[in-house]
Amino acid sequence: MADPGPVFDRLSRRFGPQHWWPAETPFEVVVGALLMAQTSWGNVEAAIENLRRAGLLEPRALASAPLGTVRALVRPAGLYRQKPGRLKGFCRHLLRASGGDLDRFFSRNFEAIRRELLGLEGVGPETADSILLYAGGFPTFVVDAYTVRIGQRLGWFTTDRYDDVKAFFESRLPRDVARYREDHALLVAHGKEICRPRPRCDACPLRRGCAYYQERKRRASP
Ligand code: SF4
Repeated sequence: MADPGPVFDRLSRRFGPQHWWPAETPFEVVVGALLMAQTSWGNVEAAIENLRRAGLLEPRALASAPLGTVRALVRPAGLYRQKPGRLKGFCRHLLRASGGDLDRFFSRNFEAIRRELLGLEGVGPETADSILLYAGGFPTFVVDAYTVRIGQRLGWFTTDRYDDVKAFFESRLPRDVARYREDHALLVAHGKEICRPRPRCDACPLRRGCAYYQERKRRASP
């Protein structure tokens, strides 16, 4: 049975502590997660900084800010027609559910919160789990395109179905928030730097146990 634990240990030795998610408050984590789609973290940071300077990095202020104002501020994060609506939609939901208090919001049942998040406009499972893991402190494994690519290449699974990939990790790793946070960040680092679309296998600390690498080697041998 594939065991991802030793692989994460190797990635940790290669990349060191990731300290992800880089945010000052849980609300900032939520805003970052909602802005993350199809852009880089640098662009998200610029958008968050604009919101901070405008005094809008707070649920009530952001919920009541004019859409046009929010659009202008988050423009660096792209998708400026969709993302402001997602931010405001989450803030309105937060105000209804807990008066804008994130601690209260997250003090409820995990499944119920996840269902609510998935019901919000523009919130898919990756965003919902990022919010729940990094802002809410729930042990829920985040799956993204890097997770799928690396897991498939290593030979851990062939599926790209979100729930199946998530279940693969959750059934093999201890349910630990700090560990899930770090492991997700390590997969992102590995997917960005080494296991890229064109993988840099010769620089990879995982190549000995990697199905993709072994197959490539087998085909290359005479
Ligand atoms: S050996 Fe190559 S394909 Fe396998 S995990 Fe490393 S970089 Fe990715």
